[in-house]
Amino acid sequence: MSQTPVHAVTPERRRIKELEAMVADVIRETPDTTTLVLFTGNERLEYEAGHFLTVDPHQFEGLERFVSFLEDLKGKKEPPRAYSMSSAPHERYIAITVKEERYISGTTKYPPLLSPLLVRRAARGTRMIITGFSGSFETLSMPRNHGFRAHDYQ
Ligand SMILES: Cc1cc2nc3c(=O)[nH]c(=O)nc-3n(C[C@H](O)[C@H](O)[C@H](O)COP(=O)(O)OP(=O)(O)OC[C@H]3O[C@@H](n4cnc5c(N)ncnc54)[C@H](O)[C@@H]3O)c2cc1C
Repeated sequence: MSQTPVHAVTPERRRIKELEAMVADVIRETPDTTTLVLFTGNERLEYEAGHFLTVDPHQFEGLERFVSFLEDLKGKKEPPRAYSMSSAPHERYIAITVKEERYISGTTKYPPLLSPLLVRRAARGTRMIITGFSGSFETLSMPRNHGFRAHDYQ
C-alpha cells in the first residue's frame, strides 16, 4: 500500500486579511485584564492555536492626538499591536485577552498606547479592523521587534 510522503503535502498558504470586527462581549478577567469577544461575521475563521491578530492604533479616533504625539517623540510610525487568540479555532467568535500596560514614572519610557483603550474603553458594539491571522508557522514577520512576553499576561 502506498502512502503519501509528508513532504508532498503542501500546506495551503494562509492569506492574511483585514476583517471588520464588532465587540460582542467584554469580560473583565482581572482589574487590568479584559477579554474582548469579537464577532466578524459568519465566515469561517482560519486560524490555529497560538496564532495572533493585529490591531492598528491609527483606526481609533480617540487615540489620534496621542498617536501623533508618540510618533513625533519616537520618530517612527506606531506599528499595529499583536494579540494572540484566546478563543479556540472551532468557536464562532474570536476572543483576545489583553492586559493593560502601565506607565511607571522613571521606569517606562513612554506611556502605553493601545492596551489601556482595549482593556478599559472597548465596550460592546465597538467596531474595529483586525488583521489576521499569523503565527510562528507563518512566513510573515512579527509586527513588532520585541518578543512575546508570556509573564505579562499572568
Ligand atoms: C506575537 C505577540 C502576541 C501578543 N499577544 C498578546 C496578548 O495576547 N495579550 C496582550 O495583552 N498582549 C499581547 N502582546 C503584546 C501587545 O502586542 C502589545 O505590545 C501590548 O498590548 C502593549 O501595547 P500598548 O500599545 O499598550 O503599549 P506600547 O505603546 O507598545 O508600550 C509598551 C511598553 O513599551 C515601551 N515602549 C514603547 N515604545 C518604545 C520605544 N520606542 N522604545 C522603548 N520603549 C518603548 C513603553 O514605554 C511601554 O512600557 C503580544 C505581542 C506579540 C508580539
